[in-house]
Order: sequence, then C-alpha cells, then structure tokens
Amino acid sequence: MPRYEYRCRTCGDTFEKSRPMAESSAPASCPAGHDDTVKLLSTVAVAGTASAPSPAPRAGGGDGGCCGGGCCG
Ligand SMILES: [Zn+2]
Repeated sequence: MPRYEYRCRTCGDTFEKSRPMAESSAPASCPAGHDDTVKLLSTVAVAGTASAPSPAPRAGGGDGGCCGGGCCG
C-alpha cells in the first residue's frame, strides 16, 4: 500500500499515511486531530537533501533581475 505525505495547515505538522490509491485524495486528519490538511507531492527518494517542497519567498529589497544561475558576481 503506498504511503502519502500530508501537511496540517493548523499545526504545521507533516505526517504520512498508508492508504489505497483510491483514497489518496481523501481528507486525512493529522495526528493532533486537525482536519485542515493538504496532500504533499510524493517524495521521491533523494538522499542527502532535506529541503521542503515549498519554496519560501525571499523577502527583501532589490530587484531580482539576475540570470538566475548564480552567475552574478
Ligand atoms: Zn494538526
């Protein structure tokens, strides 16, 4: 049975549930009992990286007009 990862938007916790694919989009309550959860993308086995799938917007001044490849320097 595949495992799916969910994130609770109430307490911010992430948890996994094993459930049939037919129920992969069904609501899942977090271990604390909250119902406001979202299903995360399936985490593919990538060893070494512990980055979250949601990119955090970078706050601050300046225009982000760089080439994006880290070549500004
Ligand atoms: Zn929760």
